[in-house]
Amino acid sequence: MSKAIDVPNSLIDQINETAAQARSIQHSVLGELAERDLRDRLLAEMKKQDAILVSHYYVDDGLQDLAEESGGTVSDSLEMARYAYEHKASTIIVAGVKFMAETSKILSPEKRVLLLDNEAECSLDIGCPIDEFSAFCDQHPDRTVVVYANTSAAVKARADWVVTSSIALEICTHLKEKGEKIIWGPDRFLGGYIQKETGADMIMWQGSCIVHEEFKAESLLKMKQEHPDAAVLVHPESPMSVVDLADVVGSTSKLLNATRELPHKKFIVATEDGIFHKMSQYSPEKEFIAAPTAGNGATCKSCAQCPWMKMNDLKRLESVLATGHNEVVIDQSIRIKAAKSLTRMVDFANTHIRPGIKVTGNA
Ligand code: SF4
Repeated sequence: MSKAIDVPNSLIDQINETAAQARSIQHSVLGELAERDLRDRLLAEMKKQDAILVSHYYVDDGLQDLAEESGGTVSDSLEMARYAYEHKASTIIVAGVKFMAETSKILSPEKRVLLLDNEAECSLDIGCPIDEFSAFCDQHPDRTVVVYANTSAAVKARADWVVTSSIALEICTHLKEKGEKIIWGPDRFLGGYIQKETGADMIMWQGSCIVHEEFKAESLLKMKQEHPDAAVLVHPESPMSVVDLADVVGSTSKLLNATRELPHKKFIVATEDGIFHKMSQYSPEKEFIAAPTAGNGATCKSCAQCPWMKMNDLKRLESVLATGHNEVVIDQSIRIKAAKSLTRMVDFANTHIRPGIKVTGNA
């Protein structure tokens, strides 16, 4: 039996307002030579400060490339944090959103972790504030609290488990087999997908990703009919009706791998459009089509672009390097508890799946 806990309207307003502010940002447009010059200066400055840039797949193409040039990586959030943890650089600069920088700090407390813009948020994180979520958990002390990685350090600290989309199914199946009932937060679509696949008893926080929730099943079905030779790749933060049309459902890393491993020459992709940069780099001969966000009931405010991810740019990197602003600080007691919930997931992967697994796979 499942129950749903709605996100308060005041938080939905806050999500819409901050997203609108993020979308209104004007980015400086540089000429080719000026941009190359800036990139060279940024690389030199990062070297001087013993820093690397770690980037999510959803940010600007140029920042993704610069991350790799700096010795950093382009990946999903947990792999970003794992890479930062294992790298010897003393400063980690995160091109992504706030919870990603926090996850890096949780795993690497001794390092300086900088975020390009402190206002770079996530609708899942904003929509699941610690006080409300904790009160909800307190009402159900008999349930195991499982939260998605797209949450604040404080919410991770309140949880028993932090999971990514690549391991959520296995962990929830494990908990169900142990007879445990679950509180799931914050993504209702990913939670619904897990519940459908595992049959676990889950009470769900009703958060959502404002990007993935816009994908439309009816238009996707039409697109599939127009491109019968295409494989459909869907991130499970999308509505169930969209997930049901997928050939592959999974995390950003899983979808990226599918474009390299499947024999198809054409893919319809339902996730944030920043991922097309890596997909095209890995398979330049293949065709990638954005899944539709238009159609019946469409609002298409995000149109497959995360407003907060798109806040990241070269000028913000220049500013952060010059000022040292936007350093991530996490209360030590919260950090230790959050690290425990994260480590529990990694230990589970090592014991139950295969040793040395990289637990990747969230937005
Ligand atoms: S794409 Fe969605 S889940 Fe990812 S950061 Fe943006 S709002 Fe959050």
